[in-house]
Amino acid sequence: MRTAESQTDLQDRVERLVTDTFVKRLADGVVGRGTTSCHSPLTGGGHLAELPEADDADVAAAFDRARAAQRAWAAVPVRRRAAVLLRFHDLLLRRQDEALDLIQIETGKARLSAHEEVMAVAVSARHYGRRAPDYLRPRRRLGAIPVLTQTSELRQPRGVVGHISPWNYPLELSVGDALPAFAAGNAVVMKPDTEAALTALWARRLLIEAGLPEELWQVVLGEGPVVGPMVVGRADYVVFTGSTRTGRTVAQSAAARLVGATLELGGKNPMLVLDDADLDKAAAGAVRGCFANTGQICVGIERILVHASVADAFTTRFVEATKAMRLGASLDYGTDMGPLVSATQLDRVVRHVEDAVSHGATVLTGGKARPDLSAFFYEPTVLTDVKPPMLVCEEETFGPVVSITPVADDAEAVARANDTAYGLNAAVFSRDGRRARRVAARLRTGSVNINEGYAAAYGSVQSPLGGMGDSGVGRRHGAEGIWKYTESQTISHQRVLPLAPSLGMDDRRYAALLTFGMKALKSLRVR
Ligand code: NAD
Repeated sequence: MRTAESQTDLQDRVERLVTDTFVKRLADGVVGRGTTSCHSPLTGGGHLAELPEADDADVAAAFDRARAAQRAWAAVPVRRRAAVLLRFHDLLLRRQDEALDLIQIETGKARLSAHEEVMAVAVSARHYGRRAPDYLRPRRRLGAIPVLTQTSELRQPRGVVGHISPWNYPLELSVGDALPAFAAGNAVVMKPDTEAALTALWARRLLIEAGLPEELWQVVLGEGPVVGPMVVGRADYVVFTGSTRTGRTVAQSAAARLVGATLELGGKNPMLVLDDADLDKAAAGAVRGCFANTGQICVGIERILVHASVADAFTTRFVEATKAMRLGASLDYGTDMGPLVSATQLDRVVRHVEDAVSHGATVLTGGKARPDLSAFFYEPTVLTDVKPPMLVCEEETFGPVVSITPVADDAEAVARANDTAYGLNAAVFSRDGRRARRVAARLRTGSVNINEGYAAAYGSVQSPLGGMGDSGVGRRHGAEGIWKYTESQTISHQRVLPLAPSLGMDDRRYAALLTFGMKALKSLRVR
Protein backbone atom coordinates (compact mmCIF):
# COMPACT_ATOMS: atom_id res chain seq x y z
CA MET A 1 0.00 0.00 0.00
CA ARG A 2 1.29 3.50 -0.69
CA THR A 3 0.12 7.06 -0.43
CA ALA A 4 -0.46 9.65 -3.15
CA GLU A 5 0.11 13.39 -3.39
CA SER A 6 0.62 15.58 -0.30
CA GLN A 7 -2.35 17.14 1.49
CA THR A 8 -1.11 20.68 0.80
CA ASP A 9 -0.80 20.09 -2.96
CA LEU A 10 -4.25 18.56 -2.98
CA GLN A 11 -5.76 21.44 -1.04
CA ASP A 12 -4.25 23.89 -3.56
CA ARG A 13 -5.63 21.97 -6.51
CA VAL A 14 -9.10 21.74 -5.00
CA GLU A 15 -9.11 25.49 -4.27
CA ARG A 16 -8.01 26.29 -7.80
CA LEU A 17 -10.79 24.12 -9.26
CA VAL A 18 -13.67 25.10 -6.98
CA THR A 19 -13.51 28.89 -6.97
CA ASP A 20 -16.36 31.16 -5.84
CA THR A 21 -16.99 32.19 -9.46
CA PHE A 22 -17.21 28.56 -10.54
CA VAL A 23 -19.68 27.73 -7.75
CA LYS A 24 -21.77 30.81 -8.55
CA ARG A 25 -22.00 29.77 -12.19
CA LEU A 26 -23.07 26.25 -11.28
CA ALA A 27 -25.67 27.46 -8.79
CA ASP A 28 -27.20 29.88 -11.27
CA GLY A 29 -30.94 29.20 -11.34
CA VAL A 30 -30.99 27.25 -8.07
CA VAL A 31 -33.74 28.59 -5.85
CA GLY A 32 -33.13 29.12 -2.13
CA ARG A 33 -33.07 31.99 0.32
CA GLY A 34 -30.89 30.22 2.90
CA THR A 35 -27.38 28.82 2.54
CA THR A 36 -25.96 25.37 3.09
CA SER A 37 -22.34 24.24 2.87
CA CYS A 38 -20.58 21.28 1.32
CA HIS A 39 -17.18 19.76 2.12
CA SER A 40 -14.50 17.64 0.52
CA PRO A 41 -13.33 14.31 1.91
CA LEU A 42 -10.24 14.69 -0.26
CA THR A 43 -9.11 17.49 2.02
CA GLY A 44 -10.28 15.81 5.21
CA GLY A 45 -13.68 17.49 5.27
CA GLY A 46 -12.44 20.97 4.35
CA HIS A 47 -15.09 23.54 3.42
CA LEU A 48 -15.83 23.51 -0.30
CA ALA A 49 -18.70 25.85 -1.10
CA GLU A 50 -21.78 27.68 0.10
CA LEU A 51 -24.95 26.85 -1.83
CA PRO A 52 -28.54 28.13 -1.74
CA GLU A 53 -30.82 26.30 0.72
CA ALA A 54 -34.49 25.99 -0.16
CA ASP A 55 -37.50 26.48 2.09
CA ASP A 56 -41.05 25.38 1.35
CA ALA A 57 -41.84 28.47 -0.75
CA ASP A 58 -38.65 27.92 -2.78
CA VAL A 59 -39.58 24.30 -3.45
CA ALA A 60 -43.12 25.37 -4.44
CA ALA A 61 -41.63 27.94 -6.85
CA ALA A 62 -39.30 25.30 -8.32
CA PHE A 63 -42.30 23.02 -8.98
CA ASP A 64 -44.25 25.89 -10.59
CA ARG A 65 -41.38 26.64 -12.95
CA ALA A 66 -40.85 22.96 -13.72
CA ARG A 67 -44.55 22.47 -14.44
CA ALA A 68 -44.70 25.37 -16.87
CA ALA A 69 -41.58 24.14 -18.69
CA GLN A 70 -42.85 20.56 -18.79
CA ARG A 71 -46.01 21.47 -20.71
CA ALA A 72 -43.93 22.92 -23.55
CA TRP A 73 -41.34 20.09 -23.42
CA ALA A 74 -44.00 17.38 -23.69
CA ALA A 75 -45.05 18.89 -27.01
CA VAL A 76 -41.51 18.59 -28.43
CA PRO A 77 -41.25 15.47 -30.66
CA VAL A 78 -39.51 12.62 -28.87
CA ARG A 79 -36.73 12.46 -31.47
CA ARG A 80 -35.74 16.03 -30.68
CA ARG A 81 -35.88 15.34 -26.95
CA ALA A 82 -33.71 12.27 -27.42
CA ALA A 83 -31.23 14.24 -29.54
CA VAL A 84 -30.42 16.33 -26.45
CA LEU A 85 -29.23 13.13 -24.74
CA LEU A 86 -26.97 12.25 -27.66
CA ARG A 87 -25.41 15.71 -27.64
CA PHE A 88 -24.98 15.43 -23.87
CA HIS A 89 -23.20 12.09 -24.39
CA ASP A 90 -20.60 13.75 -26.63
CA LEU A 91 -20.14 16.78 -24.38
CA LEU A 92 -19.72 14.56 -21.33
CA LEU A 93 -17.04 12.41 -22.92
CA ARG A 94 -15.25 15.49 -24.24
CA ARG A 95 -15.32 17.31 -20.90
CA GLN A 96 -15.01 14.28 -18.66
CA ASP A 97 -12.00 15.68 -16.77
CA GLU A 98 -14.20 18.40 -15.28
CA ALA A 99 -16.66 15.76 -14.12
CA LEU A 100 -13.93 13.50 -12.77
CA ASP A 101 -12.39 16.33 -10.72
CA LEU A 102 -15.72 17.30 -9.19
CA ILE A 103 -16.82 13.73 -8.45
CA GLN A 104 -13.50 13.07 -6.73
CA ILE A 105 -13.53 16.34 -4.83
CA GLU A 106 -17.03 15.65 -3.52
CA THR A 107 -16.70 11.95 -2.74
CA GLY A 108 -12.98 11.24 -2.35
CA LYS A 109 -13.23 8.18 -4.60
CA ALA A 110 -10.33 7.01 -6.79
CA ARG A 111 -10.28 8.54 -10.28
CA LEU A 112 -10.99 5.22 -11.97
CA SER A 113 -14.10 4.80 -9.79
CA ALA A 114 -15.15 8.30 -10.85
CA HIS A 115 -14.53 7.36 -14.48
CA GLU A 116 -16.87 4.39 -14.02
CA GLU A 117 -19.63 6.92 -13.27
CA VAL A 118 -18.91 8.91 -16.40
CA MET A 119 -19.11 5.68 -18.40
CA ALA A 120 -22.40 4.67 -16.74
CA VAL A 121 -23.98 8.02 -17.60
CA ALA A 122 -22.63 7.98 -21.16
CA VAL A 123 -24.06 4.49 -21.68
CA SER A 124 -27.46 5.67 -20.45
CA ALA A 125 -27.36 8.81 -22.61
CA ARG A 126 -26.52 6.76 -25.69
CA HIS A 127 -29.11 4.09 -24.95
CA TYR A 128 -32.04 6.39 -24.25
CA GLY A 129 -30.85 8.88 -26.87
CA ARG A 130 -31.11 6.14 -29.49
CA ARG A 131 -33.94 4.01 -28.13
CA ALA A 132 -36.36 6.47 -26.51
CA PRO A 133 -38.31 7.10 -29.74
CA ASP A 134 -38.95 3.37 -30.05
CA TYR A 135 -39.72 2.80 -26.34
CA LEU A 136 -42.21 5.67 -26.40
CA ARG A 137 -43.88 5.29 -29.79
CA PRO A 138 -47.63 4.62 -29.82
CA ARG A 139 -48.29 0.90 -30.20
CA ARG A 140 -51.22 -0.67 -32.02
CA ARG A 141 -53.10 -3.12 -29.79
CA LEU A 142 -55.79 -5.67 -30.54
CA GLY A 143 -59.19 -3.96 -30.29
CA ALA A 144 -62.22 -5.29 -28.37
CA ILE A 145 -63.76 -6.31 -31.71
CA PRO A 146 -60.91 -6.78 -34.19
CA VAL A 147 -61.12 -4.40 -37.16
CA LEU A 148 -64.16 -2.57 -35.71
CA THR A 149 -62.26 -1.36 -32.67
CA GLN A 150 -58.91 0.31 -33.33
CA THR A 151 -56.82 0.52 -30.21
CA SER A 152 -53.47 2.05 -29.51
CA GLU A 153 -51.35 2.44 -26.40
CA LEU A 154 -49.67 5.79 -25.75
CA ARG A 155 -46.97 6.71 -23.24
CA GLN A 156 -47.75 10.04 -21.62
CA PRO A 157 -45.19 11.77 -19.41
CA ARG A 158 -45.93 11.76 -15.67
CA GLY A 159 -45.39 15.50 -15.34
CA VAL A 160 -42.89 16.67 -12.73
CA VAL A 161 -40.68 13.95 -11.28
CA GLY A 162 -39.41 14.45 -7.71
CA HIS A 163 -35.90 13.02 -7.62
CA ILE A 164 -33.91 12.46 -4.42
CA SER A 165 -30.37 11.14 -4.64
CA PRO A 166 -27.51 10.19 -2.29
CA TRP A 167 -23.86 11.26 -2.32
CA ASN A 168 -22.09 8.09 -3.38
CA TYR A 169 -22.53 8.31 -7.19
CA PRO A 170 -23.20 12.02 -7.67
CA LEU A 171 -23.18 11.96 -11.48
CA GLU A 172 -24.86 8.64 -12.20
CA LEU A 173 -27.56 8.96 -9.54
CA SER A 174 -28.42 12.53 -10.52
CA VAL A 175 -28.26 13.08 -14.26
CA GLY A 176 -27.87 9.36 -15.11
CA ASP A 177 -31.28 8.56 -13.66
CA ALA A 178 -32.88 11.79 -14.86
CA LEU A 179 -32.01 11.35 -18.57
CA PRO A 180 -34.85 8.90 -19.36
CA ALA A 181 -37.27 11.13 -17.41
CA PHE A 182 -36.42 14.04 -19.71
CA ALA A 183 -36.54 11.87 -22.82
CA ALA A 184 -40.05 10.77 -21.81
CA GLY A 185 -41.20 14.40 -21.67
CA ASN A 186 -41.02 15.13 -17.95
CA ALA A 187 -39.54 17.91 -15.87
CA VAL A 188 -37.47 17.06 -12.78
CA VAL A 189 -37.19 18.73 -9.41
CA MET A 190 -34.11 17.18 -7.85
CA LYS A 191 -32.83 17.18 -4.32
CA PRO A 192 -29.31 15.78 -4.45
CA ASP A 193 -27.40 15.24 -1.24
CA THR A 194 -25.80 18.59 -0.45
CA GLU A 195 -22.38 16.92 -0.12
CA ALA A 196 -22.60 15.88 -3.78
CA ALA A 197 -24.55 18.80 -5.19
CA LEU A 198 -21.78 20.43 -7.24
CA THR A 199 -21.52 17.43 -9.54
CA ALA A 200 -25.29 17.41 -10.10
CA LEU A 201 -25.24 21.15 -10.78
CA TRP A 202 -22.36 20.75 -13.22
CA ALA A 203 -24.28 18.03 -15.06
CA ARG A 204 -27.33 20.29 -15.16
CA ARG A 205 -25.33 23.04 -16.86
CA LEU A 206 -23.91 20.55 -19.36
CA LEU A 207 -27.36 19.20 -20.20
CA ILE A 208 -28.61 22.75 -20.73
CA GLU A 209 -25.64 23.29 -23.05
CA ALA A 210 -26.76 20.16 -24.90
CA GLY A 211 -30.18 21.73 -25.46
CA LEU A 212 -32.34 21.00 -22.40
CA PRO A 213 -34.62 23.96 -21.63
CA GLU A 214 -33.17 25.60 -18.53
CA GLU A 215 -36.31 25.52 -16.37
CA LEU A 216 -36.99 21.85 -16.99
CA TRP A 217 -34.48 20.66 -14.39
CA GLN A 218 -34.85 22.41 -11.05
CA VAL A 219 -32.45 21.68 -8.19
CA VAL A 220 -33.36 22.34 -4.55
CA LEU A 221 -30.94 21.84 -1.67
CA GLY A 222 -31.13 21.41 2.07
CA GLU A 223 -31.46 18.87 4.87
CA GLY A 224 -32.92 15.58 3.63
CA PRO A 225 -35.62 15.18 6.29
CA VAL A 226 -36.69 18.83 5.75
CA VAL A 227 -36.49 19.45 1.99
CA GLY A 228 -37.01 15.81 0.90
CA PRO A 229 -40.65 15.67 2.07
CA MET A 230 -41.34 19.03 0.36
CA VAL A 231 -40.30 17.42 -2.92
CA VAL A 232 -42.14 14.13 -2.34
CA GLY A 233 -45.24 16.09 -1.31
CA ARG A 234 -45.49 17.81 -4.70
CA ALA A 235 -44.14 15.32 -7.22
CA ASP A 236 -46.20 13.46 -9.82
CA TYR A 237 -43.75 10.58 -9.51
CA VAL A 238 -40.91 9.95 -7.07
CA VAL A 239 -37.46 8.54 -7.76
CA PHE A 240 -35.57 7.89 -4.56
CA THR A 241 -32.09 6.41 -4.21
CA GLY A 242 -30.74 5.99 -0.70
CA SER A 243 -31.00 3.90 2.43
CA THR A 244 -33.77 1.39 3.02
CA ARG A 245 -34.80 3.26 6.18
CA THR A 246 -35.38 6.58 4.39
CA GLY A 247 -36.86 4.72 1.42
CA ARG A 248 -39.66 3.36 3.61
CA THR A 249 -40.58 6.89 4.75
CA VAL A 250 -40.52 8.18 1.18
CA ALA A 251 -42.64 5.22 0.00
CA GLN A 252 -45.26 5.91 2.67
CA SER A 253 -45.53 9.57 1.69
CA ALA A 254 -45.80 8.74 -2.00
CA ALA A 255 -48.41 6.05 -1.29
CA ALA A 256 -50.51 8.47 0.77
CA ARG A 257 -50.59 10.79 -2.26
CA LEU A 258 -51.25 7.91 -4.67
CA VAL A 259 -48.21 8.72 -6.76
CA GLY A 260 -45.86 6.03 -7.98
CA ALA A 261 -42.28 5.67 -6.77
CA THR A 262 -39.07 3.94 -7.71
CA LEU A 263 -36.96 3.08 -4.67
CA GLU A 264 -33.33 2.11 -5.20
CA LEU A 265 -32.15 1.08 -1.75
CA GLY A 266 -29.42 -0.74 0.18
CA GLY A 267 -27.88 -4.18 -0.19
CA LYS A 268 -25.79 -6.83 1.54
CA ASN A 269 -24.50 -8.34 -1.65
CA PRO A 270 -22.95 -11.80 -1.77
CA MET A 271 -20.22 -13.16 -4.02
CA LEU A 272 -20.16 -16.94 -4.49
CA VAL A 273 -16.84 -18.56 -5.34
CA LEU A 274 -17.56 -22.06 -6.65
CA ASP A 275 -14.99 -24.85 -6.40
CA ASP A 276 -14.16 -24.66 -10.13
CA ALA A 277 -13.53 -20.90 -10.14
CA ASP A 278 -10.33 -19.41 -11.55
CA LEU A 279 -9.07 -18.24 -8.16
CA ASP A 280 -6.77 -15.51 -9.48
CA LYS A 281 -9.65 -13.99 -11.42
CA ALA A 282 -11.96 -14.42 -8.44
CA ALA A 283 -9.50 -12.67 -6.11
CA ALA A 284 -9.03 -9.76 -8.55
CA GLY A 285 -12.80 -9.59 -9.12
CA ALA A 286 -13.39 -9.54 -5.36
CA VAL A 287 -11.01 -6.59 -4.93
CA ARG A 288 -12.98 -4.63 -7.55
CA GLY A 289 -16.37 -5.79 -6.26
CA CYS A 290 -15.63 -5.04 -2.59
CA PHE A 291 -13.44 -1.96 -2.64
CA ALA A 292 -14.41 0.08 -5.72
CA ASN A 293 -15.73 3.45 -4.62
CA THR A 294 -14.21 2.70 -1.18
CA GLY A 295 -16.96 0.12 -0.69
CA GLN A 296 -19.62 2.84 -0.73
CA ILE A 297 -21.54 1.31 -3.58
CA CYS A 298 -25.02 -0.12 -3.34
CA VAL A 299 -24.19 -3.07 -5.63
CA GLY A 300 -20.78 -3.71 -4.01
CA ILE A 301 -19.85 -7.03 -2.43
CA GLU A 302 -19.93 -7.29 1.38
CA ARG A 303 -20.10 -11.09 1.83
CA ILE A 304 -17.96 -13.73 0.14
CA LEU A 305 -19.20 -17.34 0.28
CA VAL A 306 -16.47 -19.69 -0.93
CA HIS A 307 -16.47 -23.46 -1.37
CA ALA A 308 -14.55 -24.92 1.57
CA SER A 309 -12.31 -26.95 -0.79
CA VAL A 310 -10.86 -23.74 -2.29
CA ALA A 311 -11.39 -21.40 0.66
CA ASP A 312 -7.74 -21.28 1.80
CA ALA A 313 -6.33 -20.86 -1.70
CA PHE A 314 -8.86 -18.14 -2.55
CA THR A 315 -8.39 -16.32 0.76
CA THR A 316 -4.60 -16.23 0.40
CA ARG A 317 -4.89 -14.70 -3.08
CA PHE A 318 -7.60 -12.24 -2.10
CA VAL A 319 -5.77 -11.02 1.01
CA GLU A 320 -2.55 -10.59 -0.99
CA ALA A 321 -4.38 -8.63 -3.68
CA THR A 322 -6.04 -6.45 -1.04
CA LYS A 323 -2.72 -5.71 0.64
CA ALA A 324 -1.29 -4.67 -2.72
CA MET A 325 -3.95 -2.01 -3.30
CA ARG A 326 -2.69 1.52 -3.86
CA LEU A 327 -4.33 3.77 -1.29
CA GLY A 328 -4.37 7.53 -1.36
CA ALA A 329 -6.28 10.77 -1.60
CA SER A 330 -5.49 12.05 -5.07
CA LEU A 331 -6.97 13.80 -8.08
CA ASP A 332 -4.96 11.66 -10.49
CA TYR A 333 -5.28 8.14 -11.85
CA GLY A 334 -3.08 5.58 -10.13
CA THR A 335 -4.74 4.90 -6.78
CA ASP A 336 -7.19 2.06 -6.23
CA MET A 337 -9.04 3.45 -3.24
CA GLY A 338 -9.63 6.87 -1.72
CA PRO A 339 -11.00 7.97 1.64
CA LEU A 340 -14.56 7.47 2.87
CA VAL A 341 -16.92 10.34 2.22
CA SER A 342 -17.33 11.69 5.75
CA ALA A 343 -16.68 11.28 9.46
CA THR A 344 -20.16 9.72 9.79
CA GLN A 345 -19.28 7.06 7.25
CA LEU A 346 -15.92 6.40 8.94
CA ASP A 347 -17.66 6.02 12.34
CA ARG A 348 -20.02 3.47 10.86
CA VAL A 349 -17.20 1.39 9.39
CA VAL A 350 -15.18 1.54 12.64
CA ARG A 351 -18.27 0.51 14.63
CA HIS A 352 -18.98 -2.47 12.36
CA VAL A 353 -15.40 -3.78 12.49
CA GLU A 354 -15.02 -3.25 16.26
CA ASP A 355 -18.32 -4.98 16.87
CA ALA A 356 -17.28 -7.94 14.70
CA VAL A 357 -13.89 -8.28 16.40
CA SER A 358 -15.41 -8.02 19.89
CA HIS A 359 -17.73 -10.91 18.97
CA GLY A 360 -14.93 -13.15 17.72
CA ALA A 361 -14.27 -12.16 14.09
CA THR A 362 -10.70 -12.35 12.79
CA VAL A 363 -9.16 -9.49 10.75
CA LEU A 364 -7.15 -10.98 7.88
CA THR A 365 -6.01 -7.60 6.59
CA GLY A 366 -6.94 -3.97 7.23
CA GLY A 367 -9.09 -3.15 10.23
CA LYS A 368 -7.62 0.30 10.89
CA ALA A 369 -8.37 3.93 10.16
CA ARG A 370 -5.52 5.68 8.34
CA PRO A 371 -5.49 9.34 9.35
CA ASP A 372 -1.94 9.51 7.96
CA LEU A 373 -3.45 9.18 4.46
CA SER A 374 -6.35 11.56 5.11
CA ALA A 375 -8.95 12.17 7.78
CA PHE A 376 -11.65 9.71 6.67
CA PHE A 377 -9.40 6.90 5.42
CA TYR A 378 -10.04 3.31 6.43
CA GLU A 379 -8.03 0.36 5.16
CA PRO A 380 -9.64 -2.22 2.88
CA THR A 381 -10.59 -4.88 5.40
CA VAL A 382 -11.14 -8.62 5.11
CA LEU A 383 -12.80 -10.45 7.99
CA THR A 384 -13.46 -14.09 8.68
CA ASP A 385 -15.23 -16.02 11.47
CA VAL A 386 -18.22 -13.69 11.21
CA LYS A 387 -21.62 -14.80 12.45
CA PRO A 388 -24.92 -13.26 13.57
CA PRO A 389 -25.65 -11.07 15.45
CA MET A 390 -22.53 -9.18 14.37
CA LEU A 391 -23.46 -5.92 12.63
CA VAL A 392 -21.42 -6.92 9.56
CA CYS A 393 -23.76 -9.89 9.12
CA GLU A 394 -27.03 -8.09 9.58
CA GLU A 395 -26.56 -4.55 8.29
CA GLU A 396 -25.16 -2.91 5.19
CA THR A 397 -21.71 -1.52 6.14
CA PHE A 398 -21.30 0.67 3.05
CA GLY A 399 -17.54 0.79 3.40
CA PRO A 400 -14.41 -1.21 2.48
CA VAL A 401 -15.22 -4.22 4.65
CA VAL A 402 -15.98 -7.75 3.51
CA SER A 403 -16.33 -11.10 5.25
CA ILE A 404 -15.32 -14.53 3.95
CA THR A 405 -17.38 -17.59 4.93
CA PRO A 406 -16.57 -21.13 3.70
CA VAL A 407 -19.56 -23.20 2.50
CA ALA A 408 -19.92 -26.93 1.84
CA ASP A 409 -21.55 -26.81 -1.61
CA ASP A 410 -23.65 -24.79 -4.08
CA ALA A 411 -26.83 -25.40 -2.08
CA GLU A 412 -25.36 -23.91 1.10
CA ALA A 413 -23.85 -21.02 -0.86
CA VAL A 414 -27.27 -20.19 -2.36
CA ALA A 415 -29.08 -20.59 0.98
CA ARG A 416 -26.64 -18.28 2.78
CA ALA A 417 -26.63 -15.77 -0.07
CA ASN A 418 -30.42 -15.57 0.10
CA ASP A 419 -30.51 -15.40 3.91
CA THR A 420 -31.01 -11.63 4.05
CA ALA A 421 -33.90 -9.21 3.70
CA TYR A 422 -31.93 -7.41 0.96
CA GLY A 423 -31.85 -8.51 -2.68
CA LEU A 424 -29.88 -6.08 -4.80
CA ASN A 425 -26.88 -7.67 -6.50
CA ALA A 426 -24.78 -10.85 -6.40
CA ALA A 427 -21.72 -12.32 -8.11
CA VAL A 428 -20.88 -15.93 -9.00
CA PHE A 429 -17.35 -17.02 -9.95
CA SER A 430 -16.99 -20.30 -11.82
CA ARG A 431 -15.23 -21.63 -14.94
CA ASP A 432 -18.45 -23.41 -15.94
CA GLY A 433 -20.81 -20.83 -17.42
CA ARG A 434 -23.86 -23.14 -17.40
CA ARG A 435 -23.36 -24.08 -13.78
CA ALA A 436 -22.85 -20.43 -12.80
CA ARG A 437 -26.03 -19.39 -14.63
CA ARG A 438 -27.99 -22.17 -12.88
CA VAL A 439 -26.74 -20.94 -9.51
CA ALA A 440 -27.44 -17.31 -10.53
CA ALA A 441 -31.08 -18.06 -11.30
CA ARG A 442 -31.55 -19.38 -7.75
CA LEU A 443 -30.35 -16.14 -6.16
CA ARG A 444 -32.98 -13.67 -4.97
CA THR A 445 -31.31 -10.50 -6.23
CA GLY A 446 -32.19 -8.02 -8.96
CA SER A 447 -28.87 -8.62 -10.73
CA VAL A 448 -26.26 -11.37 -10.78
CA ASN A 449 -22.81 -10.96 -12.34
CA ILE A 450 -20.87 -14.01 -13.46
CA ASN A 451 -17.08 -13.66 -13.11
CA GLU A 452 -17.40 -9.96 -12.28
CA GLY A 453 -18.55 -8.11 -9.14
CA TYR A 454 -21.20 -5.64 -10.32
CA ALA A 455 -20.09 -3.73 -13.41
CA ALA A 456 -21.17 -6.31 -16.01
CA ALA A 457 -24.84 -6.11 -15.03
CA TYR A 458 -24.72 -2.39 -14.28
CA GLY A 459 -23.27 -1.64 -17.69
CA SER A 460 -25.82 -3.82 -19.52
CA VAL A 461 -28.13 -0.89 -19.92
CA GLN A 462 -30.75 -2.60 -22.09
CA SER A 463 -31.62 -4.85 -19.16
CA PRO A 464 -33.42 -3.66 -16.00
CA LEU A 465 -31.50 -3.13 -12.78
CA GLY A 466 -32.89 -2.82 -9.28
CA GLY A 467 -33.60 -4.57 -6.03
CA MET A 468 -35.81 -7.30 -4.66
CA GLY A 469 -37.05 -7.33 -1.04
CA ASP A 470 -35.67 -4.52 1.14
CA SER A 471 -33.41 -3.39 -1.70
CA GLY A 472 -36.19 -1.56 -3.43
CA VAL A 473 -39.09 -1.27 -5.82
CA GLY A 474 -38.85 -0.56 -9.54
CA ARG A 475 -35.94 -0.59 -11.95
CA ARG A 476 -33.57 1.69 -13.81
CA HIS A 477 -32.27 0.86 -17.34
CA GLY A 478 -34.00 -0.81 -20.27
CA ALA A 479 -37.67 -0.39 -21.10
CA GLU A 480 -38.71 -0.35 -17.44
CA GLY A 481 -36.22 2.45 -16.80
CA ILE A 482 -38.09 4.81 -19.13
CA TRP A 483 -41.64 3.46 -18.93
CA LYS A 484 -41.70 4.20 -15.22
CA TYR A 485 -41.58 7.89 -16.17
CA THR A 486 -44.77 7.51 -18.20
CA GLU A 487 -48.44 6.82 -17.68
CA SER A 488 -49.77 4.38 -20.23
CA GLN A 489 -52.91 5.54 -21.98
CA THR A 490 -55.24 3.39 -24.05
CA ILE A 491 -57.13 5.05 -26.90
CA SER A 492 -59.82 2.92 -28.56
CA HIS A 493 -61.68 4.07 -31.62
CA GLN A 494 -64.96 2.19 -32.13
CA ARG A 495 -65.81 2.25 -35.83
CA VAL A 496 -68.96 1.49 -37.93
CA LEU A 497 -70.89 -0.50 -35.30
CA PRO A 498 -71.33 0.22 -31.58
CA LEU A 499 -70.58 -2.35 -28.87
CA ALA A 500 -74.31 -2.94 -28.36
CA PRO A 501 -77.20 -4.60 -30.25
CA SER A 502 -77.73 -2.71 -33.50
CA LEU A 503 -79.18 -3.05 -37.03
CA GLY A 504 -82.44 -4.35 -35.52
CA MET A 505 -80.73 -7.22 -33.66
CA ASP A 506 -82.36 -8.19 -30.32
CA ASP A 507 -80.34 -8.74 -27.11
CA ARG A 508 -80.41 -12.57 -27.37
CA ARG A 509 -79.06 -12.64 -30.94
CA TYR A 510 -76.45 -10.04 -30.12
CA ALA A 511 -75.28 -12.08 -27.08
CA ALA A 512 -75.15 -15.26 -29.25
CA LEU A 513 -73.18 -13.44 -31.94
CA LEU A 514 -70.65 -12.20 -29.40
CA THR A 515 -70.31 -15.71 -27.92
CA PHE A 516 -69.73 -17.15 -31.41
CA GLY A 517 -67.16 -14.45 -32.11
CA MET A 518 -65.37 -15.17 -28.84
CA LYS A 519 -65.04 -18.88 -29.67
CA ALA A 520 -63.86 -18.06 -33.19
CA LEU A 521 -61.13 -15.76 -31.91
CA LYS A 522 -59.76 -18.52 -29.69
CA SER A 523 -59.89 -21.06 -32.57
CA LEU A 524 -58.03 -18.58 -34.76
CA ARG A 525 -55.39 -18.37 -31.99
CA VAL A 526 -55.93 -14.63 -31.63
CA ARG A 527 -54.10 -13.43 -28.53
P1 NAD B 1 -30.01 8.39 2.88
O1 NAD B 1 -31.25 7.58 2.83
O2 NAD B 1 -29.56 8.89 4.19
O3 NAD B 1 -30.15 9.70 1.96
C1 NAD B 1 -30.47 9.63 0.59
C2 NAD B 1 -31.11 10.94 0.16
O4 NAD B 1 -32.35 11.11 0.84
C3 NAD B 1 -30.28 12.19 0.50
O5 NAD B 1 -30.42 13.14 -0.54
C4 NAD B 1 -30.95 12.69 1.77
O6 NAD B 1 -30.74 14.07 1.98
C5 NAD B 1 -32.40 12.38 1.50
N1 NAD B 1 -33.26 12.25 2.68
C6 NAD B 1 -32.91 12.00 3.95
N2 NAD B 1 -34.01 11.92 4.73
C7 NAD B 1 -35.08 12.11 3.91
C8 NAD B 1 -36.48 12.13 4.13
N3 NAD B 1 -37.03 11.95 5.34
N4 NAD B 1 -37.30 12.33 3.07
C9 NAD B 1 -36.79 12.50 1.83
N5 NAD B 1 -35.45 12.51 1.58
C10 NAD B 1 -34.62 12.31 2.61
O7 NAD B 1 -28.89 7.53 2.16
P2 NAD B 1 -27.34 7.87 2.02
O8 NAD B 1 -26.64 7.54 3.28
O9 NAD B 1 -27.17 9.22 1.47
O10 NAD B 1 -26.92 6.85 0.88
C11 NAD B 1 -26.43 5.59 1.13
C12 NAD B 1 -27.51 4.55 0.92
O11 NAD B 1 -28.00 4.64 -0.41
C13 NAD B 1 -26.98 3.13 1.07
O12 NAD B 1 -27.92 2.38 1.80
C14 NAD B 1 -26.90 2.62 -0.36
O13 NAD B 1 -26.97 1.24 -0.49
C15 NAD B 1 -28.06 3.32 -0.99
N6 NAD B 1 -27.89 3.40 -2.43
C16 NAD B 1 -28.67 2.62 -3.23
C17 NAD B 1 -28.48 2.64 -4.61
C18 NAD B 1 -29.31 1.76 -5.53
O14 NAD B 1 -29.32 2.02 -6.72
N7 NAD B 1 -29.98 0.74 -5.03
C19 NAD B 1 -27.51 3.45 -5.17
C20 NAD B 1 -26.74 4.23 -4.32
C21 NAD B 1 -26.93 4.21 -2.95
